Amino acid sequence: MPIEAEPLFDSGPQGGGDDARIGENCAVFGVYAPGLDVSRVTFFGLFSMQHRGQESSGIAVSNPEWIVSHTGMGLVNQVFTEKTLKMLKGAAAIGHNRYSTTGASKIENAQPVVLDSEPGKHLALAHNGNLINTAELYAELRAKGANHIPTTDSAVMARILLESYKTKSIEEAILEVFPRFTGAYSLLVLTNDKLIAVRDPLGIRPLSIGKRNGHYMFASESAAFAVVGSEYLREVEPGEMVVADDNGLTSHRLSEESKPHHCMFEFFYFSRPDSLLADKLVYKIRVKMGRELAREAPVEADWIIGVPDSGTPAAIGYADASGIKYAEGFVKNRYVGRTFIEPLQTFRDLGVRMKLNPLTETLDGKRIVLVDDSIVRGSTMRKIVRLLRDIGGVKEVHVRLSSSAIRHPCYYGVDFGTRRELIAANRTEEEICEFIGADSLHYLSIDGMVRATGIEKEKFCLACFNNEYPLKFTRQMNLQLSEKSMKFALEATEVENGEEVGRPAGLPD
Ligand code: SF4
Repeated sequence: MPIEAEPLFDSGPQGGGDDARIGENCAVFGVYAPGLDVSRVTFFGLFSMQHRGQESSGIAVSNPEWIVSHTGMGLVNQVFTEKTLKMLKGAAAIGHNRYSTTGASKIENAQPVVLDSEPGKHLALAHNGNLINTAELYAELRAKGANHIPTTDSAVMARILLESYKTKSIEEAILEVFPRFTGAYSLLVLTNDKLIAVRDPLGIRPLSIGKRNGHYMFASESAAFAVVGSEYLREVEPGEMVVADDNGLTSHRLSEESKPHHCMFEFFYFSRPDSLLADKLVYKIRVKMGRELAREAPVEADWIIGVPDSGTPAAIGYADASGIKYAEGFVKNRYVGRTFIEPLQTFRDLGVRMKLNPLTETLDGKRIVLVDDSIVRGSTMRKIVRLLRDIGGVKEVHVRLSSSAIRHPCYYGVDFGTRRELIAANRTEEEICEFIGADSLHYLSIDGMVRATGIEKEKFCLACFNNEYPLKFTRQMNLQLSEKSMKFALEATEVENGEEVGRPAGLPD
């Protein structure tokens, strides 16, 4: 029987207007709590972060003798039943929600990755992020004679870690192999007696520590702690390894040269508004982004409305700074499957109409400022503007976006397509405005986004906006290991850190 779980919070971030294709892999949650129902705690932790991945879900639990796991395709409460949770008994658990790119959605890629070695040396790994040197690592494993190597970066990491773990402690093994992993990783490693959280030296993807009754937890988003009755302690620092076991919590440095490069997408889009990033509440930052937007691009209007849910805090901020009243412009059907997970355009087309219903009474004949977080391809925003005009009867639609224009792909775990698919990479702001059918359009400047966070600019990854990648992507990286890697490699044929490069060897036409 499926577990009945009410939505605890409308997690919102992907509810926005042009969200139909942005995905991130993924969410991780872990708890070390002997005596507690760790699989159920992990279930609710994952459930609170469903917005970060809906393709598959999994939980692994450990005891001194074994690690046992259950994974499946679909949402958390589709994958787990009372029966499966009761079978997952242990002293510690890790869980994972996966987002996958179209076509790569298969059970073999569901996490946690679980590997067996000799007795008492089992491990499970759950990863959020993306490595950019998977090909090198894969080649290294092949050179050592390894067979049947899965092609995901997470599985390759787990295999390399296990080889080292066979002869060392897990802490020594992580300190030995992780410096060879290049890219974004916020991940959890479960052994027979420890739960370990590791964050890459740039801290690109988030990872936080929570505490409840002397037990420690880790989660991609701090909001997950509140959901399971735990308190937020702090973030795992960039380049830090934190070990939870019977001795409590201990911290080790992976790298002394850690320099935070927070993913800006987490601030305006991915993370739940009730999560903390760099110890700041995401909701407040989004309101401030709206205020910045109003200062940069004022316009006369009757109402400020947001595209629910991800555009709402910025719309409130815009209204606050502009002095124009905020109004609800749409009723959102929260029970329609989120459009961006649908692989077919036909479903996506239907999804937008089913999901947002304009409030004609409010909108008819009015001049509207429509605030959303971002535009990726532009097709969803175009439909929303059309809905406002055709069904809502609005007179003017002025689109304001609380992020800058996305012109470059992400190699660090966020999937919003290739350069060819990004509307801002190929059209001017005027052309985009015309395409979506708006009366005016403005993207928040990079400085405006950064100012709203109150964090120094150097502490961000802004590569998808400004092409300044904090980790160099070379054409030797990522050959044809997976569809995702292939896409990145094809992108690299066009540009390598701003310079035109040749085509990587081994790619098909
Ligand atoms: Fe985030 Fe963009 Fe950097 Fe990717 S490139 S990590 S989406 S800011």
